[in-house]
Amino acid sequence: MAEPVLSPDFVPRTGLFAMPIDATLPYDDQNVFARILRGEIPSKTVYEDDFALAFHDIAPQAPVHVLVIPKGPYVSWDDFSARAPEALIAGFVRAVGKVARDLGLVEPGYRLLANVGNHGGQEVPHLHVHLFGGAPLGPMLAR
Ligand code: AMP
Repeated sequence: MAEPVLSPDFVPRTGLFAMPIDATLPYDDQNVFARILRGEIPSKTVYEDDFALAFHDIAPQAPVHVLVIPKGPYVSWDDFSARAPEALIAGFVRAVGKVARDLGLVEPGYRLLANVGNHGGQEVPHLHVHLFGGAPLGPMLAR
């Protein structure tokens, strides 16, 4: 199976991306997750339904690090929570919960994270929820 393709902004040395995005800008349909949704770039799919796609993060930061994205053109949590139709919001939230359950994360526990914009350190301008688990995750924020 082909390996997932890195975003052009990926910096292998640091494992980070070059630039946080401005979450107030219009949706860019060339972003890496839009391309994954269209099947132009492969991903290691964990789950898919009418509302959401879940796949393994290309640079995992925990033993389990899965991204869940809605099937729609939403830049961030802000955009999604303001504009998305109720059915998509409900479907997306249910998909996030199902993925965590299917991965066996509920009993040991897990963490959800959605970075928004510059201060949040968001690097891909398509809403994604990070799902971390598989080990104790430490403090909520770096100190
Ligand atoms: P954020 O900083 O919240 O925007 O997170 C973006 C995440 O996307 C990072 O954890 C990256 O490792 C991940 N990522 C970037 N490109 C890909 C890709 N092609 N497949 C899977 N994960 C990716």
